[in-house]
Amino acid sequence: MRRVVHSKFAGMHPGAGPSGNGGAVTSFFTGVRKDRLLHEQVHDPYRATSKPVEPCVCPICHAVFKGGRWQWLEFWPADSHPQTCQACQRIRDNYPAGFVTMSGDFIATHRLEVLHLARHHERVERAEHPLHRIMSIEEHPDTVVVATTDIHLPKRIGQALHRAYKGRLDLHYDKESCFVRVHWTAGADRSNKTNAKKRR
Ligand SMILES: [Zn+2]
Repeated sequence: MRRVVHSKFAGMHPGAGPSGNGGAVTSFFTGVRKDRLLHEQVHDPYRATSKPVEPCVCPICHAVFKGGRWQWLEFWPADSHPQTCQACQRIRDNYPAGFVTMSGDFIATHRLEVLHLARHHERVERAEHPLHRIMSIEEHPDTVVVATTDIHLPKRIGQALHRAYKGRLDLHYDKESCFVRVHWTAGADRSNKTNAKKRR
C-alpha cells in the first residue's frame, strides 16, 4: 500500500465521502453570496477576540498584522509585537479548518497533476491571504487528503479540480465549528472500500 504523508500533521482524519457519478456539484452553501456567508457567520475558535496590537509579526511564518489584516511584508518595524498567527496556531495544534478529499480512479492515473493543481491554487491564495495554507497532504492508494488552515482554500481547490477535470464535487460547511469538508471524485470511486490505516 502506498501511503505518503507530506507533513507532520497526524490529527483528524476525514471519512470517505459519497461515491461519485460524474459531473455533479452539491453544496451546503446556497444563494449567490457564499463567500460573504463564510466571512460573516463563522465561529472560528482561533479567531482572536480582539484585534492584535499593530504592528505585530508572527515569529513562525513572519506574516505581519498591519492595517487590520495579516499580510506578507518584506520589512516590518523592529519593535513589532510577536504574535503567533491563527494559521501557525492551527498547524501547531494539528487542528485543520478544512479538508479536501480527492478520490476515484482519476487520482491513481493523474495524482501528480492533481497535486500540482492543488498546490498552485494554494500559492495563489496564500500570496494574498497569509493565513490560507495547506497544512498537510496525505496520500492513500485511492485517495488524497489535503488539510488546510482555513475554510476558504478547500472550496477554491475543489472548484478548481471540478473545473479542470469535471467529476463530482461536494462541499459541506459546518458553521458551528467553522469547518469545511470538500470531497471531489472523478472516475470510479473505490475509496469506501479502502481501509486506510490511521497514523499512530
Ligand atoms: Zn504564522
